[in-house]
Amino acid sequence: TKTYSREYWENALSDLKLEGRHFIDGECRDALSGETFIRKRPMDGKPGAVLARGGVGDINLAVASARAAFESGIWRRQEPLEKKRIMLKWAELIRAHAQELAMLETLDVGKPVLASLNVDVRLCAGGIQFYAEMIDKLYDEIAPTGPNARALVRKVPLGVIGVITPWNYPMIIDAWKLGPAIAAGNSVVLKPAEQSSLSAIRLAALALEAGLPAGVFNVVTGYGEEAGKPLALHMDVDMIAFTGSTEVGKLIMGYAAQSNVKRVALELGGKSPLVVFEDADLDAAASAVAWGCFYNSGETCHASTRLLVQRSVQERLIEKIEAVTKSDIALAHPFEPSAQIGALIEEAHMRKVLGMIADGEKDGARRAFGAEQVMSETGGYYVSPGVFVDMTNDMSLARQEIFGPVLAAIPFDTEEEALRLANDTIYGLAGAVFTKDMDRAHRFSEALHAGTIWINSYDMSNFSTPFGGFKQSGFGRDRSVHAVDKYCDYKTIWQQFG
Ligand code: NAD
Repeated sequence: TKTYSREYWENALSDLKLEGRHFIDGECRDALSGETFIRKRPMDGKPGAVLARGGVGDINLAVASARAAFESGIWRRQEPLEKKRIMLKWAELIRAHAQELAMLETLDVGKPVLASLNVDVRLCAGGIQFYAEMIDKLYDEIAPTGPNARALVRKVPLGVIGVITPWNYPMIIDAWKLGPAIAAGNSVVLKPAEQSSLSAIRLAALALEAGLPAGVFNVVTGYGEEAGKPLALHMDVDMIAFTGSTEVGKLIMGYAAQSNVKRVALELGGKSPLVVFEDADLDAAASAVAWGCFYNSGETCHASTRLLVQRSVQERLIEKIEAVTKSDIALAHPFEPSAQIGALIEEAHMRKVLGMIADGEKDGARRAFGAEQVMSETGGYYVSPGVFVDMTNDMSLARQEIFGPVLAAIPFDTEEEALRLANDTIYGLAGAVFTKDMDRAHRFSEALHAGTIWINSYDMSNFSTPFGGFKQSGFGRDRSVHAVDKYCDYKTIWQQFG
């Protein structure tokens, strides 16, 4: 429609205020050092926001603010109905600012603005709402005892939660962690990825506007080593909820051990298998593979990057994947209404993806189509969706998380072989099986080592289902009622009578 033309977004952009300062104790603040850094826009490589370059001092300030808010009880001791009202208001404000937030997300990440609007903002607001609605439904327990005692088992908030997030779905992942952490009564210091801080700063300002007390939700922007590390090493932070690479996740566990044995929850990388048997509906499978692997330009932790396909249907399936990719998954400037996928996050990442593709070809991977840099004249960082065929599971493109729009197709002959290949990875985030044989579908789903398995579909979910990994994809679950547990501890209060 006219309202959502490219010009519409370009005009709106000129009115957009880019706030790049920390949000601490209810106020926007420069870094204590006065230092800043500039974020380049993935869509065209032009300079975007100027951001505060946070360091140890800024983290100390934010943690002190979070601690003071927690100890004061201003939030955790608030009436549940009032807490719920405030968080619902926050969700409402996110929806009321949907276009602004969508533009911020697109400027930072390079994904199509309509995806930011219809997926990211919507799921962010939905996540905050889901946990708001839980607040007056969280019951404590009374444990079984003899008649002369009563043992209360209280679920209490942990205190100060450090949240460190990646750049691929910033608002969604923020909501997955902020929602349950804040609903449980904790205070938070969020360190967003240096590539994608704008939506986080705006979310914090909207939370304050909704009535969340100052200090309950703080944001410190900056680089991982400079701002994330001191947060994870901080002696007064009770837990780090982290989403990002397996490599950095391991560092986070180390920081927790080196400091105060803080708890850690890790959502890490993936190399998820999508298994197609010869009896499957190949049209449905092709569509699921293409969207599962190429949505968000492949910058998705649970992307279906390994296609395991029964040899007899490999050729037909690849033809269908190519057709569906070319007809349905348009790559274009993120403000174009037709765009289904946009740019990669930054030049260095694009170079890394192209380098992995080149190494994969040296390794013997055979390109069926795509996986090339395109639209370089825009100054942005675009790579077309691509497929490599006749792969074996030991090739680099089948083993490494590429985090770009690259699919590795690996043929198999038997169900046993498919299962062995599917589980032959250090990761265990997600997986899928396509077959009309429901006995096989369930047998396979039980045997696949991954946190989420889809049958004859991919990437279907809602807030009611937990999300997270097995093996080196991490531990702890986001989403669902269970996510609240990891931001709480049990406290026993034993009363002896007589
Ligand atoms: P990353 O690990 O490089 O960075 C993630 C966050 O950690 C950023 O905020 C970064 O600044 C911070 N960081 C980096 N070094 C740090 C350090 N030494 N100490 C503390 N913090 C540090 O990951 P990324 O490139 O932003 O995101 C891509 C990765 O995230 C992929 O591996 C992807 O699979 C994973 N991911 C996982 C999920 C999931 O739910 N499992 C979701 C999205 C992304």
